[in-house]
Amino acid sequence: MKPPVFDYYDPRTLDQALDLLAEHGTDAKVLAGGQSLMPLLNMRLARPGVVVDLNRIAALAYVEVADDTLVVGAMTRQADAEASAEVGRHLPLLIETLRHVGHPPIRNRGTVGGSIAHADPAAELPALLLCLDGEVVAARRGARRTIRARDLFRTYLTTALDPEEILVEVRFPLPPAGTGGAFEELARRHGDYALVGVAATVRIDDGRIVAARLAFAGCGPVPVTPTGIEGLLVGARPTEELWEEAARAAAEALQPDDDVHASGAYRRRAAAVLAARALRRAAQRAGGDL
Ligand SMILES: Cc1cc2nc3c(=O)[nH]c(=O)nc-3n(C[C@H](O)[C@H](O)[C@H](O)COP(=O)(O)OP(=O)(O)OC[C@H]3O[C@@H](n4cnc5c(N)ncnc54)[C@H](O)[C@@H]3O)c2cc1C
Repeated sequence: MKPPVFDYYDPRTLDQALDLLAEHGTDAKVLAGGQSLMPLLNMRLARPGVVVDLNRIAALAYVEVADDTLVVGAMTRQADAEASAEVGRHLPLLIETLRHVGHPPIRNRGTVGGSIAHADPAAELPALLLCLDGEVVAARRGARRTIRARDLFRTYLTTALDPEEILVEVRFPLPPAGTGGAFEELARRHGDYALVGVAATVRIDDGRIVAARLAFAGCGPVPVTPTGIEGLLVGARPTEELWEEAARAAAEALQPDDDVHASGAYRRRAAAVLAARALRRAAQRAGGDL
């Protein structure tokens, strides 16, 4: 199908884009990589009167490290983040996660900010951001605010961003030394959205676990971090039985829906297997590869 008719703007600066959103409000949609918005327009599931294209705002694409945080400009292509030496040095877990996002042509156009703003609960980056307890910066005309990942994702394809706000920056905190990370996923084919995905971090000090966190994709309307696993893991020595017990407990707390791809029960079972795998690999990497 063809998209509905809309007015198209391609501002060169963030301020121009914010002025357009302030003027057109809920009638406007911003266009980033287009990898989700274009299909939505073509299927007429989105019918904005105005499209504000961010692709000529070069200032929104960057990767840098500041204050123990990996800071990624919203318009950074997923492929550029994947190839970034800065990301490789400081957060290789982001690269491991990005490799599950679609295929290379999709990552060549798709943006880091677009994936987060689109908020598909099966998407990998929102789960990673939640696992790392990250945040985003949202701008509107004359103001900026920071939104933590835990407050950002509201329900399917819905975030706390207001219609006149643009997500300008994604901030991934770098966990302290001694932390390892892993991302595991079950998909019908490599590159498909996750049936279930899980990001894990484990920090080990002097042979004992001092911090651990999981976040699941594909297990409900938003990415989910089950609470309570820290209580099971923190203070314990890593063992195979412990990973399985924690993974089982985490999966039991999930309430995944049935859909055409898999039943909720199947997803919960897969979540337990993947979480054990992710915790084990994260622990093996603790002190080395985050
Ligand atoms: C065949 C195929 C397979 C895919 N597989 C996966 C997958 O396995 N995992 C996965 O995570 N994704 C997958 N995707 C989606 C891909 O990652 C998209 O790139 C991503 O969902 C949206 O990013 P985008 O930059 O393309 O945003 P767009 O499509 O341009 O925008 C998506 C939505 O976010 C809003 N938006 C975008 N940027 C901003 C911003 N800076 N501020 C405010 N709102 C914004 C737009 O208005 C729109 O509503 C797939 C896409 C395709 C076509």
